[in-house]
Amino acid sequence: MQVLNEHDFKALVDNHPRAIMLSTPEARIAYVNRMFHAVTGYQAEEVLGRAPSVLSSGLHSPEFYQSMWRSLNDSGRWEGLIWNRRKNGEHYPQWLTIYPVDYNGQRLFAGVFMDVGELTAGNERLASLAYYDPLTELPNRSLFQEFLKARVSQRRSGRQCFAVLYIDLDFFKSVNDLHGHDCGDRVLQQAAACIQSVLRKGDVIARLSGDEFAAIVELEQESELPAVCQRMNGIFQAPVVVDQREYFLSASVGAAVFPWHGKTATDLLQNADRAMYTAKLAGRACYRIYSEIEGEQGQHQQRLSEALIASLKVAPEEFSVVYQPQYDLTTGAMVGLEALLRWQHPELGAVSPADFVPVAEQRGQIHELTEQLLRQILADLERYQPGVGNGRCLAINISARQIADGRLEPLLEPFFAKIRAAGWLPEIELTETHLMNLSRRCLDKLQAFCDSGIKVAIDDFGTGYSSLAYLHTLPVNVLKIDRQFVQRLGPDCRDSRIVSAILAIAEALDMEVVAEGIETEIQRSRLRELNCHRGQGYLMARPLPLAELMPV
Ligand code: C2E
Ligand code: CA
Ligand code: CA
Repeated sequence: MQVLNEHDFKALVDNHPRAIMLSTPEARIAYVNRMFHAVTGYQAEEVLGRAPSVLSSGLHSPEFYQSMWRSLNDSGRWEGLIWNRRKNGEHYPQWLTIYPVDYNGQRLFAGVFMDVGELTAGNERLASLAYYDPLTELPNRSLFQEFLKARVSQRRSGRQCFAVLYIDLDFFKSVNDLHGHDCGDRVLQQAAACIQSVLRKGDVIARLSGDEFAAIVELEQESELPAVCQRMNGIFQAPVVVDQREYFLSASVGAAVFPWHGKTATDLLQNADRAMYTAKLAGRACYRIYSEIEGEQGQHQQRLSEALIASLKVAPEEFSVVYQPQYDLTTGAMVGLEALLRWQHPELGAVSPADFVPVAEQRGQIHELTEQLLRQILADLERYQPGVGNGRCLAINISARQIADGRLEPLLEPFFAKIRAAGWLPEIELTETHLMNLSRRCLDKLQAFCDSGIKVAIDDFGTGYSSLAYLHTLPVNVLKIDRQFVQRLGPDCRDSRIVSAILAIAEALDMEVVAEGIETEIQRSRLRELNCHRGQGYLMARPLPLAELMPV
């Protein structure tokens, strides 16, 4: 057998299908292979001897790099998704592995990387889904929040301002409904390109969920903002063209400016979202800047909040609970119920929990609302024989803010004891976005629930924050796949990529999966094929009063 010499090894590295970069401990680039040029756009001679930071996008926070170095020191390796900048100024996500290499008695660091768009399969792609939207190849919500945090912390000292835009497409749902998800996907890709064309290179754009996008826009002066927003509305005046067909969309845009409309990433995004919502209410296809809306929206919330306080106090009969059954997707047996609150107000009419729950959370009535929910459930159950639950789950929705509230456990404990006595297995659902913000102390409380045999579910999974690294440390035993992913399930295997990724994550972490919002037979059978355990949705049953669901 012929032994390889050093020359052969060099050829091996030069021609490796991934980009490879060696740098010295003094942070100088010592070697790059051919693929490096293809990924970054830099020729070897342009970067040799320079600092690896020529590649950096400036989007990540100092804490991000600190934790990278910590893990390199502690475990001799770092691996993850990082956004860098190509020579032409474009930002792109790359999957990077760094490890030390000893060469001729000298310590070097090897960085091996690849465009995430080029990754076709495997764990790397799966893991990068936590930060990256494969459809539009843009950062997702969780990464956008990270970039926004980094931008805020860089900007604390400087004078220049920037705006956060929240962009929601107006008629996208009808594209999906009329032309199918495949076409919808391509329209979304085009829409992302339109949004991008309004922005400049250093600006950041992300896809938050479904048809919602967000951007960080650099401004010399705040007075430039209306023109940017107008261009954003304007770009959608022309139809989006996919396969020679024209689709007419429009965009509602909300904007918030740092530092005037929010000093933290969370506040900025939330206020841009509020501004967007006001643009929708004002008839869509327009924009609102946060400062202009405070009045309009505040008043609506105030009215809702006052009505809520009054109804909770003097007219509890306006509240009722409906129950949506959950089924074992293999056997078809009904295995649980999710309780959902309803509020029928004499003047406001039927108010959706999607409207009143956030108001109650923000204005401090969420505890009273949960009290009302539990009272109502117990009243509903009273009419049945003990044991009627028969080991099935009874899930309630809890706002993550309540976990920190000392009044929660004394409220839940007797409730759980009572429903257990009736044969139900208690389950609590918490929305993913909030779960990731919980403190250690709150997580301990959740752990205590788990330990006492209560199931804890992450609601709306896939829409929020879930970093894989974090997920397995959470005291959670059920993942509820958000409706938007279930609704994308069609006859085509491509449609099921996200759902199968979530199922793979759940399997690895030993969690049960519930799919919500199942509306068609195709969706149900795809889920069954993918071995999803439990499901609920209009196809099987709408949420109903208990008496209709289970006649006494
Ligand atoms: P959620 O927990 O994700 O609840 C599922 C929502 O999807 C419910 O809307 C349900 O009626 C609806 N849904 C169920 N199946 C289908 C389907 O096949 N297709 C479609 N398009 N929708 C389906 P709902 O009842 O309006 O509740 C909205 C949200 O309000 C809930 O989302 C939950 O986050 C919150 N909520 C509801 N009740 C409570 C409560 O008692 N406490 C708290 N904290 N939040 C609640
Ligand atoms: Ca829920
Ligand atoms: Ca949900």
